[in-house]
Amino acid sequence: MMDQIILTYIVIMATGGVLQLVLAFIGYTNRHVFAGTQTFAWLSLFSAIYAFGHALELTSTTGEGVMFWVVFQYLGMPFSAPATLILVLQYIGLDKHINKKTLFLYYLIPLLTFLFISTNNYHHLFYKHVNFVQNHGALLLDMTVGQWYVVHGSYTFGTLFVAALFLIWYWIKTKTKHWKQILTLLIGVLLPITTSLLYLIGMTPYSIDPVPIVMCITGLLYLWAIMSTHMLTVAPVAKDYLFESMRDAVIVLDLSKKVVEYNPLASQLFPALKNGKRIDDIMMYNGDILPFHNSVNENSVNELEWKDRDKYYQIRISPIHKRNHIVVGTAIVINDITELKQVQKQLRELAYNDGLTKIYNRTYFMEKSKQAIMKDSQAQDCTSLLLFDVDHFKRINDTYGHFAGDDALRHIVSVTQGLLEKDMLFGRYGGEEFVLLLPGYSLESAAEVAARIRAKLEVSSFYSKGDALTITASFGVAAKRNISNPEEALSVLAEKADLALYEAKRNGRNRVYIEINKEFREQGYIYSVK
Ligand code: GH3
Ligand code: MG
Ligand code: MG
Repeated sequence: MMDQIILTYIVIMATGGVLQLVLAFIGYTNRHVFAGTQTFAWLSLFSAIYAFGHALELTSTTGEGVMFWVVFQYLGMPFSAPATLILVLQYIGLDKHINKKTLFLYYLIPLLTFLFISTNNYHHLFYKHVNFVQNHGALLLDMTVGQWYVVHGSYTFGTLFVAALFLIWYWIKTKTKHWKQILTLLIGVLLPITTSLLYLIGMTPYSIDPVPIVMCITGLLYLWAIMSTHMLTVAPVAKDYLFESMRDAVIVLDLSKKVVEYNPLASQLFPALKNGKRIDDIMMYNGDILPFHNSVNENSVNELEWKDRDKYYQIRISPIHKRNHIVVGTAIVINDITELKQVQKQLRELAYNDGLTKIYNRTYFMEKSKQAIMKDSQAQDCTSLLLFDVDHFKRINDTYGHFAGDDALRHIVSVTQGLLEKDMLFGRYGGEEFVLLLPGYSLESAAEVAARIRAKLEVSSFYSKGDALTITASFGVAAKRNISNPEEALSVLAEKADLALYEAKRNGRNRVYIEINKEFREQGYIYSVK
């Protein structure tokens, strides 16, 4: 007659098995949450097999029955120890090496254990002798251990022990704020170890193995630990990944300006970087001092630009605060802005300069002219503007082609540039029309400048297809005194210079005309002819 205690025990054990199956199911449905949940599902399944096997072992009335269910338990029990270790490794992020091949190695000894126990009758490597004893109405296995049993036992305890050590190491090393979870996992690992030790030294009641029940508790503990941290266990790993793969170089300093962290890009830029080294002691590859070591300041954000060989960098140095606003260090973020700089330069050139001749375009010329007048009182007293238009330019285009025409324009620009003073502004006014601002120049002296350019153009031959071409231009010059509104003055100047230019064309081209102006006429200027 089976003892009430044994019966209760069987019921608890079977209930435990059912609970483990539920846990396995939960683990399975959450298997994509984090790699460890899949391991957890397996672990729960192994424990369920162990628990059911043990319950059924206790209900068996024959030796064969007992033996059958003992072998059945070995489909679960030996596998649960390495599964626990794998779960712990996954939890603390040391699971890079875990793949199908290594999994096989982890489970190799349990596989052999199952093989040996199921074939024990032939070699007695697992159990040397097997006996059955009646205990409180249940038939229990009484055996003496064989060689492989020792291997199996050592492996089981060893893996659990290593798992516990990893947890403790992780706890100490990372001072993780998930210490409650780590502690829970640790209890989960240590519980089966201690219970089996108690069982082995015969300190458990009725010499019945309590481990399957303990593993139920363990399962619940694991489930809580995983579910309460799975989001948080992904976060540190993700942070590391981001840090390593960032496109910016990052260096982290502690309060004593010692390097505590840097990413691969930073060490590429500054090979001398080393954890623990003071930032002032780190030199660049060419022996120069780091460009930012003096800008490290606990209290303020500093931004600077730095050019190294043909690269531009932007360096941002900012204090790192803890949640309570206490400064704990400094982050230095360096990004390569070479491309940005290049694009900016190109955009500037596109916006300010004429693409063909590289001198100012009309809009920028006007802007620059306005500024030049505004900041110069002499220019406000009197400023001259000079317009010139190439004579019969269409002919060059028609005879020698548009490209030759382009070359001719560049030729005109370079001849003109050779005669300019520093304070003069030169721009392309339109197709083959050019403009010069002569700040502080009287009408007379501006007309002299125009005359010099006209004469120089006339004698500077331009060669195309072996022909020496003479290029001439017609000039219109205007001047304005007492400028109070530069913008308005410029448009008046341009208009008057254009009228004078038109007169120059009308009167035979290749000549300089000055504006017709009442004020100037009174002083004796009319058109200045050739
Ligand atoms: P005029 O002496 O009366 O000024 O005679 P012109 O032939 O120069 O006449 P106009 O000023 O009306 O013609 C200018 C020509 O310049 C028209 C246009 O095809 C040409 N042109 C304008 N811009 C460019 C350019 O960027 N490249 C070339 N090759 N030709 C241009
Ligand atoms: Mg022309
Ligand atoms: Mg023209």
